[in-house]
Amino acid sequence: MYTVSKLEDFSPAALDAAAEELLSALVAESQAAADSAAFVEFRNRWMARKNGLLTQVNEMWLKAAPGPAKREVGQRVNLLKQKAEALVAAAEQHAASAALNVRLRAESVDISLPGIERPLGVRHTVLRTLDELISVFVKMGYSIAEGPEVETDYYNFEALNFPPNHPARDTQDTLFVANQERKAQRDRLLLRTHTSPVQIRTMERLKPPVRVICPGKVHRNDAPDATHSPVFHQLEGLCVDTNITFGDLKGTLDHAMKSLFGSQVKTSFRPSFFPFTEPSVEVSISCPFCGGRGCRPCKQSGWIELLGAGMVDPNVFGFVDYDPKKLSGFAFGMGVERLTMMSYNVDDIQQFFYGDMRFLEQFA
Ligand SMILES: [Zn+2]
Repeated sequence: MYTVSKLEDFSPAALDAAAEELLSALVAESQAAADSAAFVEFRNRWMARKNGLLTQVNEMWLKAAPGPAKREVGQRVNLLKQKAEALVAAAEQHAASAALNVRLRAESVDISLPGIERPLGVRHTVLRTLDELISVFVKMGYSIAEGPEVETDYYNFEALNFPPNHPARDTQDTLFVANQERKAQRDRLLLRTHTSPVQIRTMERLKPPVRVICPGKVHRNDAPDATHSPVFHQLEGLCVDTNITFGDLKGTLDHAMKSLFGSQVKTSFRPSFFPFTEPSVEVSISCPFCGGRGCRPCKQSGWIELLGAGMVDPNVFGFVDYDPKKLSGFAFGMGVERLTMMSYNVDDIQQFFYGDMRFLEQFA
């Protein structure tokens, strides 16, 4: 390793040779400094104010020079120090860019690699139909009400004018929570068979006028087949105020069906029965697919039965402390899966619940 040696000869030629030897040693050492730690060591060895090699040059060459040679030696030593400093600075820059290159190589990303594809999800077809229904009624001024899926017998049946042991209860095969025999019937828990209990809860909570829709999941003890499912979705609506008439019911549902299926669609009302409405109707629309000529979705009849509806039975108002002498109202409800099956020409309700992507992707 290079060391600064004492000079015997202070002639210009001898000084130049010694300087040459020093600079080539410096260059060789700078090139050998492989990483930043080695470079710091190299720089300290040469440049340190206290006993660095260049300081030693000052001591051993300049200060030791005899008087007459001092001026000449001083100029050469200064020149030598300038060259050495420039070489160290250049080496420092080189080391820094080499370190940067190493880092860039380590952090480089191959942008030609294929990325990880994450497909975006979409709303389930049934929920999309439900969203469309909701938006039609929200535009008509209805707000959304929700309630529990596990209900009491009271809210699901009794307050909706299904007295205990009333035969109408048998039309809705109910899933009861087990081991409740000791409870009074009205307190027994069940999975709600319709969203109508939300109407009762809403009227208990709000003073009239009331205009709400109740979307949600309902459950019945039905064996699954092409048209039945133990779980499905309903959308019900309720409007209560003074002077609400059957004309309001017809106008509201006619407008809603035209919003959903187009202005050419007609509605038709046939007498029916529900315990909580009087009078009750089944509502059909003229087939939006064939315009009434007859096709598969309408079973060649030109009409499709879509809703149940009616004027709220005054007995129901009695359960929620509404005065049936001053108030009247109408309610309606429809099955969301049924509407979706018709809209998308699906002939098996079970398909909505299998989670088979080949089926669901068709509607994405
Ligand atoms: Zn048709």
